[in-house]
Amino acid sequence: MVVFGVSLTLQVGELKMDYITCREPRCRQAKTLAMNDLPLADVLPISASLNSDGRLAIQGRDVRGIVEEFGSPLYIYDEATIRWMCREFVENFRQFYPETDIEYSTKAFSNPAVLKVIEDEGLHIDVVTGGELAFALAADFPVEKINFHGNNKTRQELMEAVDVGIGRITIDSFHEIELLNEVAGALGKTQAVNLRLSPSIDPHTHRLTSTGILDSKFGFSIETGDAEKAVDAALSQPNLDVKGLHFHLGSPLFELEPYDEAIEYVCAFAARMKYVHGLDMQEFSPGGGMAIGYLRSKLPPSIEEYAETIANSLRSACRKYGLDEPRMTIEPGRSIVGRAGVAVYTVGGIKRIPGVRTYVSVDGGMGDNIRPALYEAEYEVMSADDPCGEFKGTATIAGKFCESGDVLAKDVKLPDVKPGDLLALPASGAYCVPMASNYNLQTRPAIVMVTEQSDVRLIRRRETYADLLSTAIYE
Ligand SMILES: *Cc1c(COP(=O)(O)O)cnc(C)c1O
Repeated sequence: MVVFGVSLTLQVGELKMDYITCREPRCRQAKTLAMNDLPLADVLPISASLNSDGRLAIQGRDVRGIVEEFGSPLYIYDEATIRWMCREFVENFRQFYPETDIEYSTKAFSNPAVLKVIEDEGLHIDVVTGGELAFALAADFPVEKINFHGNNKTRQELMEAVDVGIGRITIDSFHEIELLNEVAGALGKTQAVNLRLSPSIDPHTHRLTSTGILDSKFGFSIETGDAEKAVDAALSQPNLDVKGLHFHLGSPLFELEPYDEAIEYVCAFAARMKYVHGLDMQEFSPGGGMAIGYLRSKLPPSIEEYAETIANSLRSACRKYGLDEPRMTIEPGRSIVGRAGVAVYTVGGIKRIPGVRTYVSVDGGMGDNIRPALYEAEYEVMSADDPCGEFKGTATIAGKFCESGDVLAKDVKLPDVKPGDLLALPASGAYCVPMASNYNLQTRPAIVMVTEQSDVRLIRRRETYADLLSTAIYE
């Protein structure tokens, strides 16, 4: 793992050299500082730095200043990090396997401004509901570059997708094979599809985020024979054009071996299906699931390492089983936006229980980030006002929601904090805001993006009481 840490840092270092577009000397200085002096630099956005006031800054913009303007809690996204991650994927995968498309999973974080960046970087996207599709279409995302995933798409959702001419639909069940064939037929269209397989591979991530094991609601199991029946059934539908096979193991995957094993297994299956049913696997996707650093002590492999493993596995499996090399689609979600986002909270009450623990309560929590409560996700926490402050002990960061499980981070090291101080949770860009709720009728936070030109743009306004009242019915 130490090796991974080093390689990640080097990449960031190289990037720093050609990524500085900001012409302001103060900003350049800040970027240099970020690499040398800023604690948690490995898990913060690439443009994070210490500013001359000793506070956390993103793309040279003082985090406290941003919060004073847009309120707290606040999610801050760094455009430079999103673009950098897109390029990391495109360049590294195409280096090892030129016929690769990168498809951003919008469920990790969907927002018109982010979709514009994603489109600009030449990526495709996937959606898992009619709502995500509508959101992408409203942002004018090219419909032929959209793939529809999900284990229980409704007739209505399939109709909407086929009707607008969606690029791909990834079929997940026998029910869907028939339903989609019928929907496409009624609309007079032939729909290009892929089949989602379950390869029975344990990716060694949390039980609740494993998706490719035998006991999973997702995909057709190769092991039980369902996958073969699905290939046969899909190929015989007149309104479906079967392009290839897909699997997604789960997330976040810090190990490379599960990809390797699953690719080999699915290619062996594809070869058998070629001879038995005439399946021509023109497209292949090993899903997403690439990890990001949440904790400094647990950094992921570089994108280059994922790319090399996946490309080599696919190429050697194709050779071994006599398959033509298919076009490959990689589906990162978390790894594109996770590191780009920082959640910032304001400290309120502090409760010290001698000999037990100190609770530092903040003005957000499980309503905007349910990951710690849902699957024991862990985060680093830093004082945005004093990132380099001397640790004075440990604190448990509690949210303001009425659940004892509403804890964002347990026993983290912090300098002395007081009410009104700002705490930053790095690596909050994926699966936080998209899973946010209005529990306790708390309004959901505002989101801003700091552009590469150091402008701070509001990309989602803070909810108001009027928003909360808007769907209620008062007699
Ligand atoms: C969620 C999902 C992804 C993206 O997963 P990440 O962990 O965010 O990279 C990719 N493919 C499918 C089918 C998914 O459901």
